[in-house]
Amino acid sequence: MQTAMPTMPANPSPRSNWSGNYRYHATEFFAPRTIDELQQMVAAATHCKALGSRHSFQGIADTPGAQISLEHLREMHLDPDARQVTVEAGVTYGELAPWLHQRGFALHNLASLPHISVAGACATATHGSGLRNGNLATAVSAIEIVTADGQLRHFSRHNNADFPGSVVALGALGIVVRLTLEVQPTYEIAQTVYENLPFAALESHLVEIFSAAYSVSLFTDWQQPRGTQLWLKRKVGALAMPTPAPTFHGATLAASDRHPLPEHDPIHCTQQGNAPGPWHERLPHFRMDFTPSSGAELQSEYFVPLEDAYRAIRAIEPLSVRIAPLLFVSEFRTIAADDLWMSPCYRRPCFAIHFTWKPDWPAVQKLLPAIETALAPFGALPHWGKLFTMQPEQFLPHYPRLKDFRELTRHCDPAGKFRNGVLDRYLFAST
Ligand SMILES: Cc1cc2nc3c(=O)[nH]c(=O)nc-3n(C[C@H](O)[C@H](O)[C@H](O)COP(=O)(O)OP(=O)(O)OC[C@H]3O[C@@H](n4cnc5c(N)ncnc54)[C@H](O)[C@@H]3O)c2cc1C
Repeated sequence: MQTAMPTMPANPSPRSNWSGNYRYHATEFFAPRTIDELQQMVAAATHCKALGSRHSFQGIADTPGAQISLEHLREMHLDPDARQVTVEAGVTYGELAPWLHQRGFALHNLASLPHISVAGACATATHGSGLRNGNLATAVSAIEIVTADGQLRHFSRHNNADFPGSVVALGALGIVVRLTLEVQPTYEIAQTVYENLPFAALESHLVEIFSAAYSVSLFTDWQQPRGTQLWLKRKVGALAMPTPAPTFHGATLAASDRHPLPEHDPIHCTQQGNAPGPWHERLPHFRMDFTPSSGAELQSEYFVPLEDAYRAIRAIEPLSVRIAPLLFVSEFRTIAADDLWMSPCYRRPCFAIHFTWKPDWPAVQKLLPAIETALAPFGALPHWGKLFTMQPEQFLPHYPRLKDFRELTRHCDPAGKFRNGVLDRYLFAST
């Protein structure tokens, strides 16, 4: 077993989220230095909530009481024989991934950026892409949570029937202090970008295109019926890497590195050009030491069943004249089905349609209902960490284990200590 305690950046009481579009209402901010200290804080609090790296775009990490950051809890333990790593909840993927790689191990996937905390990402079902890749929470095999009474509870995939409700839990069960993740031998990825893939190619070849690599992302600006950039992240095997073909389903191989936002410098992005590199330096789109995405932005994302992907894209297209002026970029990704109760991919492989918006919430807020209406026939579910305007009754019926999740929440938090406006409105509205 190997252990590390990386150095810890100071984090003064944060009043806003990463994007600056949401100001927290929390009256206090604590960063306990030990789990004992955390347990005492939670037991004494009337209202509190875990705060991760603040990358969610609304009040899901907010509370009328104390926000609790686990930034001082950053230990990592690798068990190479069991192929598991246990991380404390202050650890980010940007810290974990290179640490694992140096020791010969890897995670199955990463999100578009490495800056987010493992605990916060898993709590909202954060995902990368790949037809066979579940969201990041699917790597979790055990989790330890300080519940409302200050007690430390263990949930394990192997011996706890409530485990599938404990991982994508939106901070509702308590404060996660440790997560154990399945790891695999480290691997390399080579990233290639193609430009201008006609949407028409998706009509009969969507699954073929999205299975052309280990992880595939298709970007669009909705200005024409085509994907502006197709990012293929291929796993490098024992055989020599094939030279990418000059064209792919009507798209053309990019002549140089690209940023998904054409006006941004690709230096912020992970290396392309089919150059093999460690998994954690290719799977995210953005490099740890640079600004991810645009910075001043808003995000929304909707999950539809994979089988409806093409129809869902076409359903949105008539709105493209309204979407394009407010948009930085859209991205399509795929996520494998899982068994986590509050995951949008619970028992259904998903196609995720993402929007990175310019920071104009009044205009975006007016547009979202039209997108949500267009996607309603497909049972679209919103990303828990992003912006949406759907009413709870529109999407909660698509969570078949909601009742079980509510029961588990009541068991861990009988007085609603970890509830906030988002949970009250979207999870407990009709109870
Ligand atoms: C630039 C950018 C790019 C993004 N890219 C992607 C992407 O590729 N894929 C994707 O799916 N999402 C993406 N997101 C969304 C992001 O991954 C989620 O919002 C995620 O939850 C952020 O994690 P966090 O640590 O910042 O959590 P926070 O925003 O701080 O909190 C989110 C939730 O997690 C809970 N939480 C945090 N820590 C704990 C803990 N210790 N115990 C219990 N609950 C906890 C909070 O209470 C809250 O409910 C992106 C966001 C940004 C800003």
